[in-house]
Amino acid sequence: MPELPEVETIARGLAKRVTGDVIESVWLGSKPEPLKSPASVIAASLEHSRIATVRRMGKYIVFDLERVDNLPNVVHSFPAKKSKRGKSDETAGVSAHQEAPQAQWIVHLGMTGRLQVCEPQAEVAKHTHAILHLASGRELRFVDPRRFGRLSVAQSGDFDAGGVEPLEVELDRFNELFRARNTPIKSALLNQKLLRGVGNIYADESLFRAGIRPRRRATAVTQEERTKLFHAIKDVLKEAIKLGGSSVSDYVDADGKEGFFQLRHRVYGREGDPCLVCKTPIKRVVIAGRSSHYCPKCQK
Ligand SMILES: [Zn+2]
Repeated sequence: MPELPEVETIARGLAKRVTGDVIESVWLGSKPEPLKSPASVIAASLEHSRIATVRRMGKYIVFDLERVDNLPNVVHSFPAKKSKRGKSDETAGVSAHQEAPQAQWIVHLGMTGRLQVCEPQAEVAKHTHAILHLASGRELRFVDPRRFGRLSVAQSGDFDAGGVEPLEVELDRFNELFRARNTPIKSALLNQKLLRGVGNIYADESLFRAGIRPRRRATAVTQEERTKLFHAIKDVLKEAIKLGGSSVSDYVDADGKEGFFQLRHRVYGREGDPCLVCKTPIKRVVIAGRSSHYCPKCQK
């Protein structure tokens, strides 16, 4: 399952490829699961829209769209100039062009979802649930064999991914979020209403770096430890994003098998293997149904 760094990498790769392009038409498959908004609403929101930006929010990929219904010769204007949000074009002598409401296309990749940018003649993969025909002649396809991925639209750009961005959160806010939680610190890290996008792997790796056992109550974590954890989360995510950047083209273009260069996990998935710091065997416990990995010596 792609975690925050992978989603960030995919979003950056997509931004490079499709920003400024215009969605001319949309084909949606008949499987209902991937469609979190009605198919007709998705199609109506996407068609004749320019992709203004592509970005990550939590583990969602968000395409900010601008209507281009009123603009003639859309095809010839690609790549289009980005219009500034909220600014109107009303200047003397120029006919006012009404700023249309902005919509967003929201993609969650689930377990196996992927977005491909390809030429129209490229073979359509099995389990393709959406094809966007772009003015540049290319297609943006959503493929998802296991169908845990979700496509939806938010009108007027008001999508709320919930929680706080772990890469943007400041220490004061981080303290506020975690200080009073009476749950294991690991569960608090996975709670998407607090920090959005931290998944199992990066929670375990961050707790190892901060020297905190996953089962510790968040309330029992000291200020000093919490500060360490704050930095560990950011470091671990940034390192993973840096590594992911070099493999993005493979992932987006090809059939998804390439995967990412991953951080060498220090604890995640290493049950019984020696700790890289102290050689103590790594332990695995289940907390709230999720595997947690830690070093019983390095983590208190
Ligand atoms: Zn250790």
